[in-house]
Amino acid sequence: MKTINKIYINGAFTTPHGKEILPIFNPSTGDRIGDVYLGDETDVDEAVKAAKAAFKTFSKTSLKERGDILVRLYEAMIAREDDLNATAIEEYGSPITATKGRTRYSAQIFLDAKEAMESFEFETKLEHAIIVNEPLGIIAAITPWNADYTHICSKLAPAIATGCTMVIKPSELSALQTQILTECFDAANVPAGVINIVNGTGTIVGSALTRHKDVAVVTFTGSTNVGKLIERSATETLKRVVLELGGKSPNVLLEDADLEKAIPLAIAIAFSNSGQACHAGTRLIVPESRIEEIKPLLKKHTEALKIGDLNSQETYIGPMVSQKQYETVQRYIKSGIEEGAELLTGGLGHPDGLEGFYAKPTVFINVNTKMTIAQEEIFGPVLAVITYKTEEEAIEIANDTIYGLSAYVSSCDIDKARKVATQIISGRVLINTAVNKENKAPFGGFKQSGIGRTSGAYGLAEYVEPKVIAV
Ligand code: NAD
Repeated sequence: MKTINKIYINGAFTTPHGKEILPIFNPSTGDRIGDVYLGDETDVDEAVKAAKAAFKTFSKTSLKERGDILVRLYEAMIAREDDLNATAIEEYGSPITATKGRTRYSAQIFLDAKEAMESFEFETKLEHAIIVNEPLGIIAAITPWNADYTHICSKLAPAIATGCTMVIKPSELSALQTQILTECFDAANVPAGVINIVNGTGTIVGSALTRHKDVAVVTFTGSTNVGKLIERSATETLKRVVLELGGKSPNVLLEDADLEKAIPLAIAIAFSNSGQACHAGTRLIVPESRIEEIKPLLKKHTEALKIGDLNSQETYIGPMVSQKQYETVQRYIKSGIEEGAELLTGGLGHPDGLEGFYAKPTVFINVNTKMTIAQEEIFGPVLAVITYKTEEEAIEIANDTIYGLSAYVSSCDIDKARKVATQIISGRVLINTAVNKENKAPFGGFKQSGIGRTSGAYGLAEYVEPKVIAV
């Protein structure tokens, strides 16, 4: 059993004031593997006080000093790569194939922020005035359990780059990973008070941060429903909010798509991180004229996915993060069946021979856009296949959602795919690929997928305010 009974305030590990203790589970077995002690409002006050004091000097540090810190943060994470990978497998059920790259990807965010900082316009000289982009102050970061340390890095790196200080409330479900990450930050020799980390629930620690008068920005990644609560609560003190929220991403296969490539890609996009990804392409929009060719390919590639042994290089699918998430997925599969969609593969219950919180990778065909499984974010391995007759109808279906985070298009004709991409309302549209390799590109959502952007210069801009000094 592991016990996480410290939080990190003003450069030191301290005992939280909160009285609540939450169990930590291994999702692949369902066994309890530890406990996390949670903080409360007093801890938030202390963390904000430390961040406020640190801001006085940290906001004045040079680009060189901040760049050096970013490099040290990168190095500290790489030094603990194996530990971070191991806990992500243990606590969050992420197969090693997904976990291995994640630590490096997350650490790289610090180096990317350094690069963005070096070309960022902190000061612009005009003929009669200068515009200074000043750091906003204390940033509160609230993160989700999925890829929690990636989200923490993507919120922390621009804070260091702009001279802001931070109080982080990680997900309650990521305590083991957060502990190692905090040890990395501690080892990076960052001035005390610049980074503070308070474990706790959203309703106590998260909510106290969004209401705190000394916090200037709340940067949140999580569900759309909680995002709305955060925006409401931040309004009271007119904080800036950056919200990275949920998705129900469309994947449009155009008439000419090469199905031998497009279908395995569609499966990888839908079931990435076992379907527990904000950008998962969970609505596959396909030409009606090709559905009979598509069905056997979908079935074959879904059933070929390796599920289970998280340490195997072959495994693509792990468990749901929690019993609660497993039950949510079961409810959605049941609603698909009850609302008249047809199960092509998968369905209710655990995959054969597996217990813990594993759900079956599931594909529904004959889905219409009004069904719950076509509209709501499931956050599990459930793919809804919807057919279209014309390209206009395909675009209409793609946009028939409250979300607008990610979208995908498959076609052999790139010009045509680009034309379709311009008509999809989404923060990004990827053509014939599951990943965007351009790490300077902003990430964020249209519609109810969020407000603001992370990454590159866009991420830095969220943490500064322009001031004009004119003579
Ligand atoms: P969640 O919204 O349940 O929780 C996210 C965080 O908010 C947690 O730290 C939680 O403790 C905190 N929280 C809960 N209630 C709060 C409140 N009232 N005030 C302040 N904080 C509160 O989300 P989750 O289940 O951890 O993560 C899954 C969700 O995150 C999905 O909807 C997914 O799409 C989204 N997500 C979005 C992105 C993105 O970049 N857009 C990335 C990853 C995940």
